[in-house]
Amino acid sequence: MRYGIISDIHSNLEALDAVLKALEDERVGSCICGGDIVGYGADPNECCRLTASRAANAVAGNHDLACVGLFPPEYFNPIARDAILWTRDVLDPLCQESLKTTDLIFRNQDLTFVHGSLARPQDFDYLIMAAHARETFDLMETQVCFVGHTHIPGFFAEDSSGKIVYSQSPSLKLEPGCRYIVNVGSVGQPRDSNPLAAFCIFDTSRMEISIRRIKYDIAAARRKIIKAGLPEFLGDRLLSGI
Ligand code: ZN
Repeated sequence: MRYGIISDIHSNLEALDAVLKALEDERVGSCICGGDIVGYGADPNECCRLTASRAANAVAGNHDLACVGLFPPEYFNPIARDAILWTRDVLDPLCQESLKTTDLIFRNQDLTFVHGSLARPQDFDYLIMAAHARETFDLMETQVCFVGHTHIPGFFAEDSSGKIVYSQSPSLKLEPGCRYIVNVGSVGQPRDSNPLAAFCIFDTSRMEISIRRIKYDIAAARRKIIKAGLPEFLGDRLLSGI
């Protein structure tokens, strides 16, 4: 199976369109989304509908739940909170329903997907250091767990002795006896100083994972954010990927 793995779209339709086109070109068999479909950008309904139609499975992110009243907006900084309240007002009922009913964890025979951490998925902890990754490794039932949330692509690898190392290499060959937590980066709001949209390919026959980056129409996405009356910073940050 060739999986297309995406996360953190954040209502950026231009980035999502570009990534879905790239996944078609990559001939992926199945697409899975790691959450935060909405929040920040100007096209929440379009991104919800498109993701629902193209992703076979999805998990919920903190912005998704906050935008439908299932996670407290007080947990967010003022700019993120503004965008959450704006999104709440414009989300149509069908999109609200689909966000409300999305699970926190997805598992199949090949992979696990959670937005933040397996330890307390409802709290949306950030996996930044090896100590954070430890708790998730302890709960994994598959060799690979995909995450989003930080918007910074990279992976933790645990060898057979339990030692954990972190890498930002864009490609990874899975080794027997090792386990991996892979952050696939963000489709719609990258924060690793690279403004290109991020997505991931997981090829289970080759046991290879790669993070891809592609151009999209950043200027159009930024224009829509400003026109919608969302905080201008949310448009400006797309230019630099921070
Ligand atoms: Zn996010």
